[in-house]
Amino acid sequence: MATNNKAIEHDIGVLGKFIQIYCNGKHNGQKSKVKGNGKIAQYIDPLNVELCDDCKKLLLYAASKRIICPYDPKPACKDCTTHCYAEPNKSKIREVMRYSGMRMIFKGSISYIKKFL
Ligand SMILES: [Zn+2]
Repeated sequence: MATNNKAIEHDIGVLGKFIQIYCNGKHNGQKSKVKGNGKIAQYIDPLNVELCDDCKKLLLYAASKRIICPYDPKPACKDCTTHCYAEPNKSKIREVMRYSGMRMIFKGSISYIKKFL
C-alpha cells in the first residue's frame, strides 16, 4: 500500500493532535516520539507527536481502529452500530476528546471534532 487514504490520514492526524494536547496538559512524565508498526507507521510517523507511554498506546490503539473501520465515509462514533473501542481505551479516548475538544472549541475548530463525539 503506497498511497495513504486521505480520510484516514486526516482522522489520525486529528487523533494525534487531540492526544498531544491532552498529554501536554495532563502528563508531566517523559515523552517521546510515537512510531507506528506496519501499516500504521505511514500515518503515525509523519505526525511527529511526542507522548508519554500511556498516551502513545492510546494513539496507536485509536489509529489501528480507525484504519480497520469498515465504513466509508466513517460515521460519527456515537452514531455507529459497531462499538469498536473496548475499555479502558473507550473511556480514555472520551476523556481526551472532552479535554482537548474544549480547547479546540475556543479556537473555533468544532467541525473538526464532531465525528469523534
Ligand atoms: Zn500522556
